[in-house]
Amino acid sequence: MMEGRPIYKEEHELFRQSVRRFFADNVMPYIAEWEEEGITPREVWRKAGAAGLLCPTVSPDYGGAGGDFLHLCVIDEELGYTGQASFTIQTHTDIVAAYVEALGTAAQKRRWLPKMVSGEMIGAVAMTEPHAGSDLKAIRTTARRDGDEYVISGSKTFITNGINADLIIVVAKTAPELGSKGVSLIVVEGDTPGFRRGKRLKKMGMKASDTAELFFDEVRVPVENLLGQENLGFRQVMHEIPKERLSIATVAMGASQKAFDITVAYVKERKVFGKSLMEFQNTQFKLAELKAQLTVAWAHLDQCIARQVEHRLTGDEAAIAKLFNTELQCRMVDECLQLHGGWGYMAEMPISRMYTDARVRRIAGGSSEIMKMLIARTL
Ligand SMILES: Cc1cc2nc3c(=O)[nH]c(=O)nc-3n(C[C@H](O)[C@H](O)[C@H](O)COP(=O)(O)OP(=O)(O)OC[C@H]3O[C@@H](n4cnc5c(N)ncnc54)[C@H](O)[C@@H]3O)c2cc1C
Repeated sequence: MMEGRPIYKEEHELFRQSVRRFFADNVMPYIAEWEEEGITPREVWRKAGAAGLLCPTVSPDYGGAGGDFLHLCVIDEELGYTGQASFTIQTHTDIVAAYVEALGTAAQKRRWLPKMVSGEMIGAVAMTEPHAGSDLKAIRTTARRDGDEYVISGSKTFITNGINADLIIVVAKTAPELGSKGVSLIVVEGDTPGFRRGKRLKKMGMKASDTAELFFDEVRVPVENLLGQENLGFRQVMHEIPKERLSIATVAMGASQKAFDITVAYVKERKVFGKSLMEFQNTQFKLAELKAQLTVAWAHLDQCIARQVEHRLTGDEAAIAKLFNTELQCRMVDECLQLHGGWGYMAEMPISRMYTDARVRRIAGGSSEIMKMLIARTL
């Protein structure tokens, strides 16, 4: 289902092989260790950079490979297909580097992108606050202009790569009185005085990904750290978000396919009541239903990817892909875990990790309910 699709050319399929090999050799053997530690070591980021897995679309002028959007999709599909997506290069590449690419000045790109491509700098995006997630307009973090600097005060939570991050795009109010028309995106580098990381948050899944609270106590950054235009941050986020949601839908598809594939292999091996679990009609019908859903979802994903390649993907189309594929992923891991029986509940089994990892997909990056709101607005 993943290979041989018309949207991809031979170069993408070759790239897929090298990406799959990278994850198999450098991520999968160590994932249990990283889950224990609650973080993916920086060294792995640098290896991923050297292998061309970080920010593949960045222009060679800024140290990148100058790949196209499809290279990004291949990485996201393969990341999902590892059955663990908690090596969170997706946030780094698909959100943080993408914002810098889309909104940054030439000087900002020169300063940050080469190190993001190599994995020397790890990116995070800080939107969510303890009291404001879905309702981004309700954020309270402010960035007051003082001469040639912004002074940032506030706190963020649930920030992916929060512990590892060297470059954090902070969403802050530069003109609080203007509501959503007074929001800006400002880059804070990890060693800036007044910036502090809170504790690493313990999560039910995605355990090799570090998630943290971040605190900004009168953090001063030069005005050159403004990304895009002052007070247009909300609009800029909304402009970039369909692509981000498509990438979440893409990882979810890879993960759904992986859950399905390992379960087909498992039921063929497992014997119950003297025959293979695959021989029971319940198993066949369950897997047939799941295969039908997967097939349709891949077709829709390809349609969305093709539209994004032409820069025609709309917000509601991306919301449909994000809603459908993340809900599919959660149904898939649930049904597949059931077919594993008690073994599926054992932490050592990949389907068990896939089950707990999947749950966040229906929440982060815009919850399923927010996706439905966006879709409903088109009715
Ligand atoms: C593991 C993880 C990683 C994350 N990484 C990041 C990150 O890197 N950067 C970042 O900024 N954020 C991150 N987040 C935050 C994430 O984007 C938010 O959790 C998400 O947007 C939901 O916000 P919330 O948690 O405040 O829930 P709330 O907004 O409080 O929502 C609670 C419930 O209410 C529902 N709801 C909200 N509004 C409506 C409505 N209008 N109509 C109907 N129902 C509604 C929601 O769907 C949800 O079911 C992460 C979260 C997690 C769990």
